[in-house]
Amino acid sequence: LRVLVLGSGGREHALAWKLAQSPLVQDIFVCPGNGGTSQCPKTQNLSILPSDFPAIVKFAVENQVSLVVPGPEQPLVDGVETHFRKVGIPVFGPSAQAARMEGSKAFAKDFMAQHSIPTAAYKIFPAYEVEKAIEYVKTCGHRVVLKASGLAAGKGVLIPESTEEAIAGLKDIMVSNVFGKAGQSSQITIEWEEVVVEEMLTGPEISVLAFSDGYTIVPLPAAQDHKRIGEGDTGPNTGGMGAYAPAPVATPAMMERIMKETLKPTIDSMRKDGFPFVGMLFTGFMLTEAGPKVLEYNVRFGDPETEALMLLLSEDTDLAAVLLACAEHRLDAVKIGVRPGFAVSVILASQGYPGDYAKGKHISVSTVPANTVVFHAGTSKSKDSENIVTSGGRVIAVASYASTLREALDSVYAGVNNVSFEGKIFRRDIAHRALSAASD
Ligand code: ATP
Repeated sequence: LRVLVLGSGGREHALAWKLAQSPLVQDIFVCPGNGGTSQCPKTQNLSILPSDFPAIVKFAVENQVSLVVPGPEQPLVDGVETHFRKVGIPVFGPSAQAARMEGSKAFAKDFMAQHSIPTAAYKIFPAYEVEKAIEYVKTCGHRVVLKASGLAAGKGVLIPESTEEAIAGLKDIMVSNVFGKAGQSSQITIEWEEVVVEEMLTGPEISVLAFSDGYTIVPLPAAQDHKRIGEGDTGPNTGGMGAYAPAPVATPAMMERIMKETLKPTIDSMRKDGFPFVGMLFTGFMLTEAGPKVLEYNVRFGDPETEALMLLLSEDTDLAAVLLACAEHRLDAVKIGVRPGFAVSVILASQGYPGDYAKGKHISVSTVPANTVVFHAGTSKSKDSENIVTSGGRVIAVASYASTLREALDSVYAGVNNVSFEGKIFRRDIAHRALSAASD
């Protein structure tokens, strides 16, 4: 097999690392890749623009690529799957139609409502209905969460503390357009079309990543991410500062319920509605007193969950065989084995992230403990030497596996100490929720 991975993060390095272990895989191309994928066995980076689908397809055809694995959501929402389907190359990833489950929060909410999939109560307001939206938050009788939703990106969430703050938030989004291209006061720029006003839920959050071929769905152990930059979950949101799995709150009984009430009906209903889901369905849940409720769907591998989960897959699980089986609708014929124990990933970021940060800092890595892997994210080869330098906000993901969470954490933080670059920052409290639950 010759596999083409699209993307340049720690997630893509982790996928290339696991794919390279497959005896079926001869070559891996990563477009555009990073400093880590440039050194991975069987792997080479491609300097083609990731958004230039015709050029990527041409390369894939000329180089006998037989499986495409898009990492981020953007190419999927932009319809990369169709480009490869037209030339007969299988893709582990959904069609643009199915990718709307992530691309449009309004679409995902309506889908869940139609199919009785448990989620927060909600109402959708188009941009011009600000007065109606205000009336709704005044009378709905519960706290709300505001989400700007658009086909382009579908991101931008506000969690107001009071009705007054919610009204101010609606005016910020719908009148001042703080998330829009013209907005000045937000770091996020999205083209949104509607606002989803959602009931605020409470409870622990988990992420469930599940392989699907459109018919069968196989979840991996539930993970917990750490979105905020600061320890104790403080400060601004980031792409994710670390993750671990399995999360003990996701008991076997809870996972069974999630499978029955959400994952299976999601896959079956998407197929019956005419947009079957092939790829990695990544569902964010809040475990409320009334049961697990969906916060969001993502249509691809999570980052930094993937860096941990790849270490949790058993050594005899052939990732290439699994991804190809999904793309060919025969997932029930392959084995997905998960090791007992725990895996953890810790992100090393550049000082200043998620705001401005310096680039081009030299990275050195010394020998890391057993069962520990250094995945690269925002790194590249320096122009004038073979040195690897920082080139992004999230720079490295160190991941470890061990039979206990404590041992996995000891290894991962020992690994963190083996990586140096100027301005390295990281959270020292990854998996704190599991540790405090265990000591209760
Ligand atoms: P992500 O970066 O996770 O993809 P996003 O912009 O797609 O974020 P959501 O995942 O829908 O948005 O929401 C982001 C976060 O806001 C959630 O992880 C959760 O902590 C919080 N949140 C979202 N919806 C609710 C809700 N209904 N009740 C309480 N908190 C919520």
